[in-house]
Amino acid sequence: MAAGKEKQVSFTTEETTTCPICFESFLTPRILPCSHTFCHNCLSSYIISTCKTKESPVGFPCPLCKSFVPAPSFSIELENWSDLIPINKSVQFLIEKGDKLCDACQREDEEIVANIWCESCSESLCAMCAKYHRKNAASRNHTLVPIADFSKISCGKESMKSTPVVCKDHNKLIDYFCVEHEELCCTKCVCTKHRTCTQVDDIEEAAESLRKSEKIKTLSEELFQFEGSLVKAKSNGADTIKYIDDTSDQIKKESTELRDKIVNHVNALLEDHLSELAHTAKEHRGIVASIVDAVSDRQLLVAQYLHSLEDTEKLPASVLVNEYLKIKKQFACVSKSGFSQIRVQLQSTVSKDLTGILYLKTFTDLKTRMKSIPLWGIDLTSANMKLICELPGSTDNITGGCFLENGDIVLVDNDSSHLLHYSNAVLIHTADLIMEPHDAVCQNNSLLISLNPAFFENEKSSIRQFNLDKFEKNKDEFLTEASVYSMAISGGFIYVACSDVIIKFDQEGNTVQRYPVDMYTYSVATNNSNEIISSSCSTQNVTVMSSCGEKMYTYSTKKLKYPHGLDVNFTGNIFVAGRDSRNIHVLTHKAELLKIFAIESRPTCIKFKENSNVCFVGSCKKTTKVYEFQEVM
Ligand SMILES: [Zn+2]
Ligand SMILES: [Zn+2]
Ligand SMILES: [Zn+2]
Ligand SMILES: [Zn+2]
Ligand SMILES: [Zn+2]
Ligand SMILES: [Zn+2]
Repeated sequence: MAAGKEKQVSFTTEETTTCPICFESFLTPRILPCSHTFCHNCLSSYIISTCKTKESPVGFPCPLCKSFVPAPSFSIELENWSDLIPINKSVQFLIEKGDKLCDACQREDEEIVANIWCESCSESLCAMCAKYHRKNAASRNHTLVPIADFSKISCGKESMKSTPVVCKDHNKLIDYFCVEHEELCCTKCVCTKHRTCTQVDDIEEAAESLRKSEKIKTLSEELFQFEGSLVKAKSNGADTIKYIDDTSDQIKKESTELRDKIVNHVNALLEDHLSELAHTAKEHRGIVASIVDAVSDRQLLVAQYLHSLEDTEKLPASVLVNEYLKIKKQFACVSKSGFSQIRVQLQSTVSKDLTGILYLKTFTDLKTRMKSIPLWGIDLTSANMKLICELPGSTDNITGGCFLENGDIVLVDNDSSHLLHYSNAVLIHTADLIMEPHDAVCQNNSLLISLNPAFFENEKSSIRQFNLDKFEKNKDEFLTEASVYSMAISGGFIYVACSDVIIKFDQEGNTVQRYPVDMYTYSVATNNSNEIISSSCSTQNVTVMSSCGEKMYTYSTKKLKYPHGLDVNFTGNIFVAGRDSRNIHVLTHKAELLKIFAIESRPTCIKFKENSNVCFVGSCKKTTKVYEFQEVM
């Protein structure tokens, strides 16, 4: 990569003095590691506009070639980054008017006109200084160009890395290194700021001992490891983005399908309704029409009668009397036949469930939950355990428990057989478990509790479900032959420490695998690689097994006595509670010791909150305490 950057390109003077952002002649030219140069103000506004939307920015891409430029300092505001980006001295030199002075002489407070430019140092030199520059072993190979020959100056294209560092306070070359302050010093610094410092090395010696030491290798290894976590975090991020896209597509599909189903159903209902309406209307219209018809007939009949009774004079006597009697009888009959007219009322009441849709405010109840997972753990070798809070009332013999998803804590008290539920360090529920509990683990908002009979004769040990909402034991349980102690959940399986064996159960309580372990193994934990970590109170060993039960790593020391409880945090580090040695041992995932923390009480268990450095430590006859492991700066 570096070779490409140093490729020589020839420019005309005008090209080399024009800023590629504002296309004006440079004003305070700043040079990036890729050798691209921009005006101070142009670069500054570019950095601000590029980085302001980024989450704690650590650098920016070059406006021209896009190569990444690391932030010149993490301790200053974004707005001031360009102040710390070096001036392109050769460009600055080109655009300066008037006599150019020798930079080397200026450092000695002498003003001598320069006529040579050293490209390697980006410095102007007078004839005398140039002569020494050519003779000096350190600068013998530098490229010197006569100032009259402007167009040949490569304008900072030569690697900036070969430019020796100059002291910012005194503008002098660096000759020393103060080990105490980890600071570079010039001859003036040594006599002032670092006058009383005990170890100030010659810069050549410092570089040599740095090259010989493991320090560069160690730093590279740390960087590689860090790069690994970044790669993982990036791929996790891509997975999460894909998950969001896939899930929102799925939700969209389901919602649209539901809408279609509702619309189709409403359409079908409407169709039924309309056909029923048409049928009813037709039926009732028919009934009313037939009555209207009958009324019309009677109307005609009456008209006939009236007509018959009009010309009574002309009729023979017998016909008239006969006609009169007939009409009178028939009329009496027709008018008394109980004939009635019909009024119809048609009404349609829409189901409240149907109109209820109009009062809905949302289609679904959309919820998101964000969880923040640290990218990497802290340096546990330089960490301390900061006390966060105490859990009052947990003073008997806390042998286990766990953090719930909402951050609440449940503890099991082996002595009093109680389950204790804490929210914000306040005891909000207790439940009598009757049998002797040893541990509790959280699984899908319900708890699993390991229970042993108080008197050995009758009952069996069991793993029992506990309902957190009702805060009571569920009926669901599975009985075990062996006594049950600590538990760990991993990959849908439950690992239970049973003194001389660790049993892996499936969700129904079937034994999947038995892992023989040392006697008095009360603790078990699993890590992301499905390795099984346990400790024995007879051999005092901490053991890491592969998922097939093969012993991989062992940790033991005289400083660890009665390792009753342990846990693994999100980075895979192992934390062991030594009850009788009164300490917490922090180990790597390969069971190598990182640090031992002394504990005042006799710790019986340690349990971590998911994806955090927060844990609680249960003790014999002492209050359970919540701690956070924090890096000491
Ligand atoms: Zn500019
Ligand atoms: Zn560039
Ligand atoms: Zn000089
Ligand atoms: Zn030089
Ligand atoms: Zn200095
Ligand atoms: Zn110093």
